[in-house]
Amino acid sequence: MSDCIFCKIIAGEIPSQRVYEDDRMIAFKDINPKAQVHLLVIPRLHVTGLDALTAQHKDLIAHMMLQLPQIAGSQGIKDFRTIINNGAGAGQEVFHLHIHVMGGKQLPGF
Ligand code: AMP
Ligand code: ZN
Repeated sequence: MSDCIFCKIIAGEIPSQRVYEDDRMIAFKDINPKAQVHLLVIPRLHVTGLDALTAQHKDLIAHMMLQLPQIAGSQGIKDFRTIINNGAGAGQEVFHLHIHVMGGKQLPGF
C-alpha cells in the first residue's frame, strides 16, 4: 500500500529502529513509547486490522504471536503486555495490523 506508513517502514522508505525481522514480519520501536519498552510487531503483508483477517492468515498470525517472547527477550524483558487496537473507535491510528508489545517496568493493572 503506497500511502501506508508501516508499509513505508517495511520498505525502508521511513526510518525505524528494527529489533527483529524475518520473511513474514518485522518488529521495531514505537516512535512515541507508552512504556519503557514499546515495540510494534507487524506483518510484511498489508492487512488493515484484525477484522480484515481470514482463515488464510492463520499461519501468519500464529507465527507472529510465537515470536513475541523472543522479541521481548531481546529487549531485556520477560513480562510484557500485548495490545491490538482494531478500528478508529478503539484507538487504531495506523491501518496496517500491528501488535503493541509493552513492558520494562511494572505495568499498571488493566
Ligand atoms: P495505533 O494507535 O494502535 O494505531 O498505534 C499506532 C502506533 O504507531 C502509535 O503508538 C504510534 O506512536 C506509532 N507510530 C506512528 N508512526 C510511527 C513511526 N514512524 N515509527 C514508529 N512508530 C510509529
Ligand atoms: Zn501497510
